[in-house]
Amino acid sequence: MTNLVSKWNYPTTVRFGAGRIKELPEALSATGIKNPLFVTDPGLAKLPVVASTLALLDAAKVPHGVFSDVKPNPVEGNLTAGIEVFRKGGHDGVIAFGGGSALDLGKLIAFQAGQTRPVWDFEDIGDWWTRANSDAIAPIIAVPTTAGTGSEVGRAGVITHEASHTKKVIFHPKMLPAIVIADPELTVGMPPFITAGTGMDAFAHCLEAYCAPGYHPMADGIAVEGMRLVFENLPKAYANGSDLTGRAHMMSAAAMGATAFQKGLGAIHSLSHPIGALYDTHHGMTNAVFMPYVLAFNRPAIEERIGRVAAYCGIDGGFDGFVAAVMDLRRKLGVPESLPEFIKGLAMDEERKSLIVDMAVVDPTAGGNPVELTKDAARAILERALAGR
Ligand code: NAD
Repeated sequence: MTNLVSKWNYPTTVRFGAGRIKELPEALSATGIKNPLFVTDPGLAKLPVVASTLALLDAAKVPHGVFSDVKPNPVEGNLTAGIEVFRKGGHDGVIAFGGGSALDLGKLIAFQAGQTRPVWDFEDIGDWWTRANSDAIAPIIAVPTTAGTGSEVGRAGVITHEASHTKKVIFHPKMLPAIVIADPELTVGMPPFITAGTGMDAFAHCLEAYCAPGYHPMADGIAVEGMRLVFENLPKAYANGSDLTGRAHMMSAAAMGATAFQKGLGAIHSLSHPIGALYDTHHGMTNAVFMPYVLAFNRPAIEERIGRVAAYCGIDGGFDGFVAAVMDLRRKLGVPESLPEFIKGLAMDEERKSLIVDMAVVDPTAGGNPVELTKDAARAILERALAGR
């Protein structure tokens, strides 16, 4: 019998709804931030959505700095540069504005600017987070502009360690944003590829959290409703980017996925992380490519569970019906069926395959997979993703 002992953490204040970005100046006063550093990425920095948000700060006479040197899978150089700007500008908090990359980097700047140890000392391993000076962590307001990672309600930031080509999760409870402004209007400008990839990321979080072993019925309940919201709304948001209802439900699903995955993730993420680190691919889209192959591999352990979520989502046919619905969702969103279709010109020799397998089995998410992710298993899943069947 499952051991009914667990630890549950739930997110922060989320000001949810279209148009609520207007509350940013007031959210800053509520948090006590007087001179924020606005952290975003270079693509977003050129879009009207950033200009109109900065105009809100100007209108409220809030002094602020802007930092946008953030790669899609952020690296240490981005963090070092951001910390320098934060310190030079005398900033006392961060507005993390964007997709997972800008949110994570903004959170990491607020965390790391006051630390003396290297950021790698705070990897999400055991109680490493207690090494940090928690009084020196600056407050964060998070404003997501994609609906996928759910980083806005999370206590971690992901950063690529370039020397080892690995993505490291840096964790501290105080990296949880003090306030989130979740305004679906900010996501309408997402191009279809990003809508699809980020939406599938939210789905992968819910799915893997739901399938992870452990006693966490609250996370399970959130994950199940999160999956239903994605099935119903992601095709709508993809087909019509201005569908605010679809966008709003996807924004909820993203926050729900990240709330649920405190229970654990699994092999989709374990394989997606090395691919992302080695080929700089979009995280959510990489998850979507691996999803059916991992579902098939995990079947013996999750068939009954998946049958329940299928029924809840109105899908007939139990496990097989659920997999068919996932395949249908992938087709509607134009998700590539194989890694070579996804990463053009991909040629993977044996050495590279072994490297990916070695990285996958030690990825921190591997422990959450409901079937042990051995090297043979990771290899078999990778081969299926390469072949596309
Ligand atoms: P992203 O932040 O990398 O953004 C992808 C692209 O979308 C960028 O070019 C960006 O400019 C553009 N974009 C973002 N919002 C837009 C908008 N409203 N309109 C037009 N373009 C827009 O993508 P993401 O999927 O949100 O984040 C991925 C990152 O998040 C990865 O680095 C991944 O490792 C990390 N991640 C973190 C967590 C966590 O818990 N902290 C979880 C999953 C993933």
